[in-house]
Amino acid sequence: MDYQQLLRDAMDTARSLPARGRPADYIPALAAADPEAFGMALATVDGEVYGAGDWEHPFSIQSISKLFTLALALAEGGDGIWQRVGREPSGNPFNSLVQLESEQGIPRNPFINAGALVATDRLLELTGDAAGAVRDFLRAESGNDSIGTDDGVASSEARHGHRNAALAHFIASYGNLRNPVDSVLAHYYAHCAISASCRDLALAGRFLARHGLRADGSRLLTRSEAKRVNAVLLTCGTYDAAGDFAFRVGLPGKSGVGGGVLAVLPGRGAVCVWSPGLDRAGNSVLGVAALDALTTATGWSVF
Ligand code: GLU
Repeated sequence: MDYQQLLRDAMDTARSLPARGRPADYIPALAAADPEAFGMALATVDGEVYGAGDWEHPFSIQSISKLFTLALALAEGGDGIWQRVGREPSGNPFNSLVQLESEQGIPRNPFINAGALVATDRLLELTGDAAGAVRDFLRAESGNDSIGTDDGVASSEARHGHRNAALAHFIASYGNLRNPVDSVLAHYYAHCAISASCRDLALAGRFLARHGLRADGSRLLTRSEAKRVNAVLLTCGTYDAAGDFAFRVGLPGKSGVGGGVLAVLPGRGAVCVWSPGLDRAGNSVLGVAALDALTTATGWSVF
């Protein structure tokens, strides 16, 4: 199969649609993203990687980092995390505070901001450097040692982070953070502000297609843990539009407001697409359309 042609065709189909969306504008660094940028990469389980368009151009991974934070917290600390965070879709925006009070400081899932703050806290507790653990994992799986945090984006996130700070303090008031709120927030901003390309992320996401096995063959997650992460990605990974994403794409996936979407093809590989224009839910318009076109053309889905 000509994977590169498949990617090009999926991108062409997406480009032929009228909708484009707009880059995130809650911080200037993201608002400045090129709305025309578009790239897509596919990494197979046996380590081959194919790409089209701007597939090697680094972008702000934002909430895609939450997938790696959760996986590493599970790998380092096991199932205990599920005592502190749920696995139900929230039905509310990613930065919502509303359910935290009725649920006693236990966020609904690890992919809304509240849940990602708890996973970051857990990883910080286990490693002493949550953002560094995410960065090092991405470097190791992709073989790209230049992956790192964009400090300008991280400090801009912190300056505009009133809601995330409110979430963290609220969770801490229920005793569900173990580290000081400021250090949890700093690590959260630092892993969201990592820059990486579609190529890097597709390679780094392969462990979920390989049922928990890393690039070097060592085990990050048990088969069952990997299944669970994939399940939560499918139900909660694409903001308030996870139902629509499952309907159109049919794969576990995680999006970020930088315009990236990383999707898992269990047993086959991982695919990452990037285009900064977002829909109202915060998902890349061209990114979701390209994944929709890819899975429609190939029949690759979990269903
Ligand atoms: N750092 C962003 C925030 O917390 C992440 C947004 C996202 O990609 O969902 O607002």
